[in-house]
Amino acid sequence: MELVDSYGRKIDYLRISITDHCNLKCYYCTPFSGRSHLERSEILTYEEMLNVAGAAAASGITKIRITGGEPLVRKGVVGFCRMLSEIDGLKSLALTTNGIYLEEMAEPLFKAGVRRINISLDTLKPERFEKITGYNWLPRVLAGIKRAEEIGMHPIKINTVVMRGINDDEIEALASLTLAKPYHVRFIELMPTNSSAYDDYKMLFVPVEEFMKKIHRIDRVKIEPAMDSYGPARLCKLPGAVGKVGFIAPVSWHFCGSCNRLRLTADGKIKTCLFSRDEIDIKAALRARATQDDIIDIFRRSVAEKPAGHQLNSKAHQNACGRAMRAIGG
Ligand code: SAM
Repeated sequence: MELVDSYGRKIDYLRISITDHCNLKCYYCTPFSGRSHLERSEILTYEEMLNVAGAAAASGITKIRITGGEPLVRKGVVGFCRMLSEIDGLKSLALTTNGIYLEEMAEPLFKAGVRRINISLDTLKPERFEKITGYNWLPRVLAGIKRAEEIGMHPIKINTVVMRGINDDEIEALASLTLAKPYHVRFIELMPTNSSAYDDYKMLFVPVEEFMKKIHRIDRVKIEPAMDSYGPARLCKLPGAVGKVGFIAPVSWHFCGSCNRLRLTADGKIKTCLFSRDEIDIKAALRARATQDDIIDIFRRSVAEKPAGHQLNSKAHQNACGRAMRAIGG
């Protein structure tokens, strides 16, 4: 079975946010108003998420990424990953983390079937790390990256959100990590979400063209689209590098035409577009003991409603997604 939307895009990728809790307080990611956390009863249980994942795989989803909040703060995440990786039809299980618990969890996660890992890292400077995240834990993230590499996770993608006056002077240094290591270091444009940084958005936003220029050693002719289907990134290599440098520009470059993803929020809503306020409730059906066919039906209807593209550029700098990233799953 395949999920194909009204615009002919094949939808085969589901991102599941398993919690809205996080052990960091990155100001651009945290909701600026309303309740800061969901009640436990509002969050889907692992069993409910497995039901959704099973139905998703039966509908044509082949890749799942676990995200959050911070997924590694939710108890039982390793067992959940193991059960996910046993679902028929799923070819790839990936996880996005801030890396704080990765040093101790990389091996159990690997054994549970997680191979692909994205780690968020906005700076290599300890004081700056503390300023951005609220905690002085840069060494833990670096140890987590090292451990993930030792254990054989591949690819290891390091995601850096570029912000003017905050970390845009570190682009060259972060890109240089790829000289000796097989990492993909990906620079991402700041997106206008519901966060405390929203008022500063215009000031903090750096367009991709500007931060690409900061890496003097890249050959711009060689920048190519990512070769895997996770890939909104355009990739290139520094001369002699082992790893790759990537650029992700959700604001400046529309990649909606090739969008293959759906998102499931921790409170049981399907989002068909990161930058749409539209959400389809799946929790009510799950709690009313829906059958797998009922859930597959919800997936089909969701995919049919997936918009052609986001309207970020026309509603410039508005909070189009209605939630902060921490409450969606990045
Ligand atoms: N806690 C995990 C982590 O840190 O990777 C997973 C969830 S976090 C919401 C996923 C990603 O979203 C992080 O890389 C974070 O930097 C990014 N993010 C959060 N708010 C963003 C924004 N306004 N614009 C661009 N990226 C953002």
